[in-house]
Amino acid sequence: MGAWGCPHESGGRCMRVNGIPCDPGMKGCILYGRVTFSKAEKNPPRLRRALEKQVPPRRR
Ligand code: SF4
Repeated sequence: MGAWGCPHESGGRCMRVNGIPCDPGMKGCILYGRVTFSKAEKNPPRLRRALEKQVPPRRR
């Protein structure tokens, strides 16, 4: 199984967002809004609302 490498990352910096340090999920990142992150602030409001509506799994 291979790891994913972002084509916009170079030397730890994001060439898509003005060369600032790569922070997957930040605004402007290609992952923003496409995947959900465990840090709620990295998710757009639409995804945050969807996650809040999810029912937690039942415990045995
Ligand atoms: S911030 Fe996102 S788009 Fe930019 S280099 Fe990192 S993973 Fe790629």
